[in-house]
Amino acid sequence: MPQPALSAHRRALRRLAAVMAGGGSAQQRLDRLVKVIAGEMVAEVCSIYVLRAGEVLELFATEGLNRSAVHRTRLRVDEGLVGSVAASARPLNLPDAQAHPKFSYRPETGEEIYRSLLGVPVVRGGRVRGVLVVQNRASRQYDDEEVEALEVFAVVIAELIAGGDLISPIERTTAQGGAMLPMRLTGIRIHGGLAAGEAVLHTPPVGIPRMFADDPGPEHDRLAAAVAAMHSQLDDMLELSELKDGGEHRDVLHAFRQAAGDRGWLRRIREAIDSGLTAEAAVQKVQDDTRARMGRIADPYLAERLHDLEDIAWRLLRHLSGRTAARADLPENVALFARNMGPAELLDYEPRRLRALVLEEGSPTTHVAIVARALDVPVVGMVEGVLSRIDPSDPVIVDGDNAQVFIRPGDDVQQTAADNIRLRERRRRAYAAMRDEPAVTRDGVRISLHVNAGLLMDLPSLQDGGADGIGLYRTEIPFMVGSEFPGVDAQTELYRTVLDRAGGKPVMFRTLDVGGDKQLPYFRAAADQNPAMGWRSIRVALDRPGMLRAQLRALIRAADGGALNVMFPMIAEVAEFAAARRILDIELGRRAANGGAPPGALRVGAMLEVPGLMWQLDSLLPLVDFLSVGSNDLFQFLFAADRGNPRVADRYDVLSPGLLSLLRALVERCRAAKVPLSLCGEMAGRPIEAMALIGIGFRSISMPPARLGPVKAMARSLSAAGIQGYMETLRGLPDHSLRERLRGYSRDHGVVIDDG
Ligand code: PEP
Ligand code: MG
Repeated sequence: MPQPALSAHRRALRRLAAVMAGGGSAQQRLDRLVKVIAGEMVAEVCSIYVLRAGEVLELFATEGLNRSAVHRTRLRVDEGLVGSVAASARPLNLPDAQAHPKFSYRPETGEEIYRSLLGVPVVRGGRVRGVLVVQNRASRQYDDEEVEALEVFAVVIAELIAGGDLISPIERTTAQGGAMLPMRLTGIRIHGGLAAGEAVLHTPPVGIPRMFADDPGPEHDRLAAAVAAMHSQLDDMLELSELKDGGEHRDVLHAFRQAAGDRGWLRRIREAIDSGLTAEAAVQKVQDDTRARMGRIADPYLAERLHDLEDIAWRLLRHLSGRTAARADLPENVALFARNMGPAELLDYEPRRLRALVLEEGSPTTHVAIVARALDVPVVGMVEGVLSRIDPSDPVIVDGDNAQVFIRPGDDVQQTAADNIRLRERRRRAYAAMRDEPAVTRDGVRISLHVNAGLLMDLPSLQDGGADGIGLYRTEIPFMVGSEFPGVDAQTELYRTVLDRAGGKPVMFRTLDVGGDKQLPYFRAAADQNPAMGWRSIRVALDRPGMLRAQLRALIRAADGGALNVMFPMIAEVAEFAAARRILDIELGRRAANGGAPPGALRVGAMLEVPGLMWQLDSLLPLVDFLSVGSNDLFQFLFAADRGNPRVADRYDVLSPGLLSLLRALVERCRAAKVPLSLCGEMAGRPIEAMALIGIGFRSISMPPARLGPVKAMARSLSAAGIQGYMETLRGLPDHSLRERLRGYSRDHGVVIDDG
């Protein structure tokens, strides 16, 4: 048999290209392809197995085996030799196939007369889509070039399958007779809710306009130019980051830049071009191979490298195509998939269409999560490997409550989800109808329910949900989504709009809380070893008083003689509160000197987020007009467990006796000092947690807008005295969490708990 030289590869690819471009159905083209490939490989048999729903590989076309086996022979992934090629995503090269322990005899195919077998996976988008096999009567080991040739042919087959004509994306999801197990991936809950939508990839794969090139010369040139352009762009990024921050960002870029220079990777792309592919198709092929092989590796270091290579491949494809970020038309129901993204990027998607967000990385407190919560779409984070398993337009269901993502779900799952979504919609309407009902417990205790906001789009919820006010206005969010620091005028305008829309209800403006997990793109500090405990929040504000002064000036102007509530975040010692208050006084003095009206009623408070403040209440309480517990931060510091690190996110429970006893002590101290107290962390928005808070004496809490309805329903079905008495009995328990006991209480006493 002749060695398939490189020029022979190209000739073969030309013939394949002619078949692809020729007329006929996808099946007819496939039938012709197997003939051409068998001829080129000098093989007596060439067969194509396509992966169908339910992990079934079906013989779709063959040259050499019995025709009657086509569409009849089926193997499960990992069954037989073909199944093991699919399962391992690696070629199998056997001089004596029938001697292999995995060999599974299928009499209908008539394959018993063929001894040698070479099978390669057909991979696209990191997923195995089928298996391409050649067989010969004689026992022989196929050489490396033949393996490489068949792998290149598999790229063409992958295109044909991905085209959707052979088996429609819908058909791929419906088992033929058998039950289809939907692909279900689990991550961590970032925001609850349930939604169905069509997958949109945040970094959409770049389309490959042309697969084959007669002359590799220009393709090599194009690749070299694209690599050079990509390198210089990365170098620019690197230089900029060195100048600007010199921190972790730079280290990441360095690693990234190194990966972009990976010789082995580039060599493989060049080889693929030599075999007759265009530069784009070569990048895609090498990336698909890498992903299929590395995707199985659990080593976190290698997994990171794979991420880097994927990003680089994507960048390279974009440089090759010369295209920028233009997005295709979005579907009506967008289920957005991204590795991670910034809040501004999320807002690029029309909120009206956005149904769900799935992040391969991403923790509950990243900025994008905060924005997604404001949009009230389910968000699941840390879904490992999801990007390599999803294709654009795949139907998906995102169950934020249970942190699950169903990709190409079967009919039963779709039906259940649709029923559930309808049910939730009904409940939502019921909550809306409750809007004007006060949050009064069964025994007549009024609970003040406020919402957390940070974007103008949050504000309608204030009226719609019947909230008592905005318990936390996160002023840094508008700063985070912009591209530069807003000036005093722009801030005044924004705060005025917020106050207008609040229509007289109180708004607790929290001053800038940047740093930690809330980075401004244009203001990066040197990397802290421990960002949550580093230079953040009030520490930044006091060290850069110009920023704080500008913000306070804008707030005073926006209040325009009306009420103004300001709270300072992350106060760790009384002196910090006093210093921040002095800056506010300077701005009040400036306002007076300019003849402007001072705020009619000014209330200045502190957030209790650092446990150390608990031991300074004697000196703090006389200075503040109110206190608000930032339980997200307080909890992470109390348990020394990073709120943004999913590995420890579930390790402790906010319903731990420890946190609750600290909060109870705080309630008692504030009550004695007559200082209004509220709590504005995420826990306030969860009915069981909110019930516990009422049980230890909280009468005011603030939560994400979407949680107002369920919390109000809980409060209205609860007896404050009852839960207070019950919580007394739990004092001093050594439990990890009181959650189950509280759940039991709610069940026994008919308290409405809607965790959705
Ligand atoms: C908190 O820490 O609980 C809080 C409300 O502030 P943020 O989540 O914005 O840090
Ligand atoms: Mg906080």
